Amino acid sequence: MPGVTEAQMPDAPSGSTSPTAGPVRDPRPGLSGLEPDVLSAWFADRSQPGYRARQIADAVWAGGSGGAQAGAEVRTLPAALRDEVDAAFRFDTLTATDVRPGDGGQTEKALHRLSDGALVESVLMHYPARGANRQRDTVCISSQAGCAVGCPFCATGELGFSRDLETAEIVDQVRAAARRLTASGRRLTNVVFMGMGEPLLNLDRVLEAVTALSDPHRFGLGARHITVSTSGVVPGIRRLTALGPQFTLAVSLHAARDPLRDVLVPLNRRWPVAEVVAAARDHAEVTGRRISYEVTLIDGVNDTPADAAAMADLLRGDLCHVNLIPMNPVAHTPWRASPMDRIEGFAARLRQDRIAVTIRRNRGQEIGAACGQLAAERAGEPAAPVVARRRELLVRDSAAALRAVGG
Ligand code: SAH
Ligand code: SF4
Repeated sequence: MPGVTEAQMPDAPSGSTSPTAGPVRDPRPGLSGLEPDVLSAWFADRSQPGYRARQIADAVWAGGSGGAQAGAEVRTLPAALRDEVDAAFRFDTLTATDVRPGDGGQTEKALHRLSDGALVESVLMHYPARGANRQRDTVCISSQAGCAVGCPFCATGELGFSRDLETAEIVDQVRAAARRLTASGRRLTNVVFMGMGEPLLNLDRVLEAVTALSDPHRFGLGARHITVSTSGVVPGIRRLTALGPQFTLAVSLHAARDPLRDVLVPLNRRWPVAEVVAAARDHAEVTGRRISYEVTLIDGVNDTPADAAAMADLLRGDLCHVNLIPMNPVAHTPWRASPMDRIEGFAARLRQDRIAVTIRRNRGQEIGAACGQLAAERAGEPAAPVVARRRELLVRDSAAALRAVGG
């Protein structure tokens, strides 16, 4: 549905709005976020046979193909019981979804409305088979509505933080993508938490969502096919290390030196880059799984030979992989992507120190390129003087940071 506007998006269910306060959050838990024994106990309390919980689970998960969105679809249940289940739980926590195809059918950006009117995004990316690599269909999902970290090159950072997502609100983005794929005869192969929000600042819900997605009796996607990206929440990384391998951990690095990273990832003032990389290194050593570092390259800001050399010094010898991503332009910043020859030079400098590097060339398909941008569009452009002031501050802060690190 390209070019859908807010006015065309279906409203939240009637009765959930009030003229002054806006939509109220639906208190019914989403079924995809429930532990299986909670549902079994609910049926047991109603003197229902044990297989009822299994029937609901089969309907919700449908072998990883997306599953039912309403009780009415669950024909195996008696009608009265279906109504009772509907009154107590939600089959789908996304109240409306707009889908916009892009990149000649290679990506689909989806904007989801939640019960309280919050908007979050997911992006489905299709990678055709190439050489030894099989076809992949990856969905990039959100863990929070907005984000409090406030990275200045990120559309979500611009929106500020609204709230943490519930477990089912996270999982239902994946089910929605799986449903669309199933309709076209495909299957979801990968999930990446690289949409809106900082997953490690909503870690309990993210861990529950990953458990549901990787459980063979629920969504059934192997944990190796799930990646969670963090901007560097050190206590969260340490907690994950203690839990053992749960998924692939990606760390948004962007700069190896503190003064510049303080500007690009404001969380760096709390957990400086050396602490982030030390935690990531420990994680890789303990879990045996390599860390994936994300580096968004911004023309003239973090792409100099000095930046590449500092990054090589920081990561040399580590069990890691670096993804270089040309920055996708965002309305409120004066910045743009580094030219490809500079990105290639950056990659070459890292490879010189035997660090594995890939360059994501197709920006349109990229994660950062997509998530946060639809919601930012909805929020509307900030007023011109506000943008001008912000640009001025960014140019000033990044120039000061560059001076501090010696250009
Ligand atoms: N908050 C987490 C995960 C969501 S952001 C994190 O920051 O890691 C996912 C990735 O998109 C991050 O690596 C982020 O730096 C990147 N990103 C955000 N805005 C971008 C842009 N305009 N261009 C390119 N990458 C961007
Ligand atoms: Fe938040 Fe990640 Fe965007 Fe930074 S890049 S503002 S951490 S979503």
